[in-house]
Parts: sequence; structure tokens; C-alpha cells
Amino acid sequence: MIDQRLISYIESIQPTRSDIYKKLEKIADDDKIPIIVPEAGYFLQLICTILKPKRILEIGTAIGYSTLWFYDNTEAIIDTIEIDSERKQQAENLFKRLNKNERINFYLGDAIEVLPTFIGEKAYDLVFIDAAKGQYHKYFDLIEKITDKGAIVITDNVFFHGMVPGIEEPSKRLKPIVDKIDGYNKMLHNNDNWVTSFFTIGDGLAVSIKLN
Ligand code: SAH
Ligand code: MG
Repeated sequence: MIDQRLISYIESIQPTRSDIYKKLEKIADDDKIPIIVPEAGYFLQLICTILKPKRILEIGTAIGYSTLWFYDNTEAIIDTIEIDSERKQQAENLFKRLNKNERINFYLGDAIEVLPTFIGEKAYDLVFIDAAKGQYHKYFDLIEKITDKGAIVITDNVFFHGMVPGIEEPSKRLKPIVDKIDGYNKMLHNNDNWVTSFFTIGDGLAVSIKLN
């Protein structure tokens, strides 16, 4: 979606990151795991540094790459949910090995089932949505119940390989997901309780701030 030359140029001028980040990027590339691009990581770093969140919720852990960005750039307690037990274990092992596991809770399960158990128990000031693309609207409705005024929700893949804005034509199989993401973006746009900005970083990021 974004010109490769631009990405290469940005890569050449942004800060360097430690080997563990590069190692995870390589694993994700080899195993075809859709982690955020480094540019998105630096953007999360910026948001974290400004917001100084105390409690972060991540939906979609995968191997813990975005989780590591959150961990290294905050002092927050992080709750992260993953449906795939192997990936959850991989991420958990990583943080244990790095000695960075004392303020992370790994949850195994479908976010749609895990999130309702948080209602009345937890409140987050930063939420990252990056799991099943067709479920974004449902996640958001549940997040409404576990956030207060001033909370920020960051949603990944809101342009979905350029298919949501119509730059690329979706296959028959992907069309329903593309339509759902488009509906989600429009819901954010029309939501009086939140104000949302959209960024052309990676696969598209939406940043929403809760007004009331
Ligand atoms: N946030 C990660 C990448 C997540 S990829 C990063 O940027 O580093 C999306 C992940 O969401 C996958 O690992 C997938 O197994 C998980 N997932 C898909 N559907 C889910 C669901 N219903 N509940 C929880 N996790 C889900
Ligand atoms: Mg993603």
C-alpha cells in the first residue's frame, strides 16, 4: 500500500532497535505471522511516552512483538489476549527469558469470551486491537465498558492491504472482512463518544480518544 522506497528511507533514518526486536521480526517473517511493522512500533512508542499509561490491554499477542514495544516504553501492567495456545506460550516464554514477565498477564482464549470477564474488574488507559479483523466492532463495544474518559484505543490493519480504501480488489473470501473493517472505521467516524484519527502507518492505524 505504501511505496517501498518510502519505507526503506524511513527505515534508514529511524532509531535503531535492539537485536531482540530484529530477531522477532525475522521469526515473524519466516513463519508468516502478521506483526506490526517497525514504523508502527515507533508510533506506539511515541503514544506510550506521551500518555504514560498505567494499564494496557492488547487483543492479539501473536509472538509478543507489539507487546514488547508496550513493555519497553511504559511502566504499565499489560494484559494481552491470544487465541492460539502455541503463540501464547511462545510469547510467554520470551518475556520469561528476558526477565520481563513481572507486569504482564497472558490470557489464552477468544477475546470475545475473555473481554466480558474484565467488565467491572479492570479499566485500561490504552488498548491495542490487533486480533480477528471481522470482530473489531464487537471488541470495541466491550472495550467501551472497560475504559474511561481520556482512554486511547489503537486499532491495527484498518486499511487491510489497501483493500478497505479500494486500492486493491479483495478476493471473494476476503470481501466480507474488508466490508466489516470499513463498517468499523465508519462507526469510529460517526461515534460521538470518541474522536478518531487514521494514520497510513503499516497496514493502517486508527487512534481513538474517549471523550466522555
Ligand atoms: N499484535 C501482534 C500481532 C497479532 S497478529 C504484533 O503486532 O506483534 C493477530 C493475532 O490475533 C494472531 O496471533 C491470532 O492468533 C490472534 N487472534 C485471532 N483471533 C483471535 C481472537 N478471536 N481472540 C484472540 N486472539 C485472536
Ligand atoms: Mg496487525
